[in-house]
Amino acid sequence: MSPEKKTSGTCILCGKPLPPKRVAYCSPTCAKRAYDIRQRDKEAEEREKEKERLKESAAKKRKTKKQIDASWARILKGMQKTGLSYGEYVARYEDGKS
Ligand SMILES: [Zn+2]
Repeated sequence: MSPEKKTSGTCILCGKPLPPKRVAYCSPTCAKRAYDIRQRDKEAEEREKEKERLKESAAKKRKTKKQIDASWARILKGMQKTGLSYGEYVARYEDGKS
């Protein structure tokens, strides 16, 4: 297939041969439908992205707040119990934990 055939040949949407003067779609109907499909895809993609963003920020918030608070509380308690410094305690009891 030659490169010229690729650009002017058949309708991108339905595959029918293109009438003269038409470049991508055989009819306004196909152009409109293709546009609608693109818009729908874009909207769906945006919604997906937004969902991901919300999920990520929620997870981040949870991790940065609750999990760090919890591990801090545990470490502080352990430090008091053992009398070790933070560095010593973490090296002995918390190393490798996350
Ligand atoms: Zn068409």
